[in-house]
Amino acid sequence: MNKNRLPLSGGCQCGAVRYRITGWPLTLYCCHCSECQRQASSAFGMSMRVARQNVEIDWQAMARRVREAGQRNEVHGHFCPDCGVRILHDRPGSATVTIKAGTLDDTSWLNPVAHIWTASAQPWVQFAGGSLVYEYQPERFDELEAAWAGRDVG
Ligand SMILES: [Zn+2]
Ligand SMILES: [Zn+2]
Repeated sequence: MNKNRLPLSGGCQCGAVRYRITGWPLTLYCCHCSECQRQASSAFGMSMRVARQNVEIDWQAMARRVREAGQRNEVHGHFCPDCGVRILHDRPGSATVTIKAGTLDDTSWLNPVAHIWTASAQPWVQFAGGSLVYEYQPERFDELEAAWAGRDVG
């Protein structure tokens, strides 16, 4: 943990959408599910869970994509309507949101504590020693949050 880094700032590629994170994130992990691979157009997505109340952003400035997967699993993807960069995901009514961590202005210090959905990870990806590894979606995020809280990020 290093609260001197707060607030964290980030935004999309074109600069139309900007945000600030004013409270320390809950955890940081890589997701290797096929949706994150497609959405990130890369091998995995990097997700930062943050309390919703700690995110300052103009929600109306973003476009939204709703993934219908049963009411409980409805996920909203929010992205810049101009350049298309995905900024965050949330579930309606949830107290947390998931920031796409690659949109932070400074990504140099990011060091994920976990890898999830590794069943679909690309075969060349190696997980750093000490990482929590989940083949699919973790039931709860307690372990991921505890690991992140104990990490000194400099
Ligand atoms: Zn943009
Ligand atoms: Zn994913």
